[in-house]
Amino acid sequence: MLFDSHTHSLFSPDADKMAAVERMSLQAYNLGLDFITVTDHCDVNFFLPADECEYPEYQLRDKDMFGSRDYSAKSIDTVMTLKRKCKNLLCGVELGQPLQAPEFAAQVLSVPGLDFVIGSLHMNAGKPDFYWIEYDKMDISEIYALLDDYFSEIFRMAQTADFDSLGHLTYPLRYIEGEHNISVDMSRYDDIVREIFCALIQNGKGIEINTSGLRQKYSKPFPDEKYLRLYRSLGGEIITIGSDAHKLPDIGGGIKEGTELLSECGFRYISLYRARKCEMIKL
Ligand SMILES: [Zn+2]
Ligand SMILES: [Zn+2]
Repeated sequence: MLFDSHTHSLFSPDADKMAAVERMSLQAYNLGLDFITVTDHCDVNFFLPADECEYPEYQLRDKDMFGSRDYSAKSIDTVMTLKRKCKNLLCGVELGQPLQAPEFAAQVLSVPGLDFVIGSLHMNAGKPDFYWIEYDKMDISEIYALLDDYFSEIFRMAQTADFDSLGHLTYPLRYIEGEHNISVDMSRYDDIVREIFCALIQNGKGIEINTSGLRQKYSKPFPDEKYLRLYRSLGGEIITIGSDAHKLPDIGGGIKEGTELLSECGFRYISLYRARKCEMIKL
């Protein structure tokens, strides 16, 4: 069985406007995927009213792009409706920064019928999305300070946030190493990554192998093989897979390669969430 559990439709403001949910379902069918989960962005920190949060200029810009609660509600409504006729469709959400606005995160998750929740961190509290940061203008200690905060918040998410699978761990490396070609010594995060994995395992949550990096300059999945092996060695079994497609041609991208890599890393199962229940599918 093959499936793509992380995809964005036109209801994600940064996704291609051709990516209508019905077309995504058809594309998945044509590719031979058994299921496609639509997981549009829901960066809940942007749901905070402006007077409760002093957004610097860059956050106002992101708020315009990602901040609409309507977008995420429309995504969920549309997918729920289409699920009745498109049998390969599952309804998910990519919940961004859940601990930065926990009351809004809880509201989103209270919608009945959700199949799958990815917990992601796209920006540290009070900072722009890692996508926007001008790493070339920073010295390396400032970059490490960003990464320190990133892993600390992920650790708190692993301990306390409500989600099923941790999205694209090491996301900042897409930009720091991939786009800006700056090498960082990741061994300084070995201990906290280990603690993150232990907390997730203990709380019955999983991680995802996000294959978007395979088609980007980073050229590895998020997280890469070293972390996949570490997670497995600690007893981690719940692992979801997603292309993180933001346009139709990327649906299913890297799913076969990612699945093979998981086998090589010693995983025996891959996880599919339906109605927020984890199904372990034999690799
Ligand atoms: Zn993401
Ligand atoms: Zn995504």
